[in-house]
Amino acid sequence: MKYQNNLSYAQQLDAKDPLSYLRDQFHIPKDKNGNDWLYFTGNSLGLQPKQTQKYIQQELDDWAKYGVEGHFEAKNPWLPYHEFLTEKMAKVVGAKPLEVVVMNTLTTNLHLLMVSFYQPTKTKYKIVIESDAFPSDRYAVQSQLKFHGFDAEDGLIEWKPRKGEDLLRIEDLEEIVKKEGDEIALLLIGGVNYYTGQYLDIKKIAKIGHSKNCFVGIDLAHGAGNIQPNLHDSGVDFAAWCTYKYLNSGPGSLAGLFVHEKHANNKDLPRFAGWWNHNKETRFNMRMPFDVMNGAEGWQLSNPPILSMAAIRSSLDVFDKIGMDALRQKSEKLTGYFEFLINEINSDDIKIITPTNPKERGCQLSIQVKNADKSLHQKLTKNNVITDWREPDVIRCAPVPLYNSFEDVYRMVTILKELL
Ligand SMILES: *Cc1c(COP(=O)(O)O)cnc(C)c1O
Repeated sequence: MKYQNNLSYAQQLDAKDPLSYLRDQFHIPKDKNGNDWLYFTGNSLGLQPKQTQKYIQQELDDWAKYGVEGHFEAKNPWLPYHEFLTEKMAKVVGAKPLEVVVMNTLTTNLHLLMVSFYQPTKTKYKIVIESDAFPSDRYAVQSQLKFHGFDAEDGLIEWKPRKGEDLLRIEDLEEIVKKEGDEIALLLIGGVNYYTGQYLDIKKIAKIGHSKNCFVGIDLAHGAGNIQPNLHDSGVDFAAWCTYKYLNSGPGSLAGLFVHEKHANNKDLPRFAGWWNHNKETRFNMRMPFDVMNGAEGWQLSNPPILSMAAIRSSLDVFDKIGMDALRQKSEKLTGYFEFLINEINSDDIKIITPTNPKERGCQLSIQVKNADKSLHQKLTKNNVITDWREPDVIRCAPVPLYNSFEDVYRMVTILKELL
């Protein structure tokens, strides 16, 4: 695609964009004078769909009207409420409905999944993560090692970029597993790296892990609603993701969990139990011996918060109407334009560390600015440009195809160029 570096061209792209109408369905934060922020942190906290208030209000109203009877009498009965989310969420991540459930929060889900899929023995106990793994994932894994009586340093293997490089190479993971696979119990990898924006080939990762009988889990916090991970086909054993980033479901909202169909009926997997992963038919009998449910629902523990799920329902309805294919199509174009404009700045001080191949990234670009410090980020913020700063010198920016425009991207880069 050949792009042009001027405002009217950016506006033309918006005019031709079949999804541009969606921006108006979101609350775009504004400055004191009523100007829209240039919001590039949908990878941190996605913006609020305007209809979400209605979805939450419905549940508040039904709670007021019915009290406990709302579990059955509410317009959207609370008892099966999580089931209203399953099919649409499964579509977003390319899974079968049986494989997906919305529950808990992300780090909690990772732990619950490791109860089942981290089964260390004396000789096969190590865990592989990326060296730039999100801190919560690293802490979670370290604490699992310690919980099982292993040394967190000895037990943790880091898949690192090569010296002088920013991105991970799949051959290096292959090498790690080839050499140390007999000692490795689990690979837990971020599908889209939060720092570099690199989208890894999770199907290949699954194959590599399984070649040495390691379980493979994927953290999709930066993938869900951004890229199309085709979880079922990838063959990974499990995955988890939050819904407050690209899935626009509100701060701290509930998370998604995926367990591959091949494990759906395996009642021998170790797991924690509560009344919500007990067989629905006899759940309220209250005196039955524990009888675990099939599929991802068999990992639930508690009856979930309806107000949070109402926000997720609202958001998934938006995703479902458009479909990930159309979203990805726009996303590649929007990020492509962003990349083009950054490259037009033509400065040796600026480097995009995210892969240039659209198949190896989502919407985020991570821009390294030589000799910059946090003051650059503060100046951007003063100019209504909301980005995310990562020490020592990286600005992470995510143009989100649901609500960011080509004009947003053009204006953002113009401001960045002036500040440099
Ligand atoms: C955002 C994010 C988290 C946050 O975890 P919570 O349990 O939702 O607080 C964890 N891991 C990754 C990779 C993330 O991007």
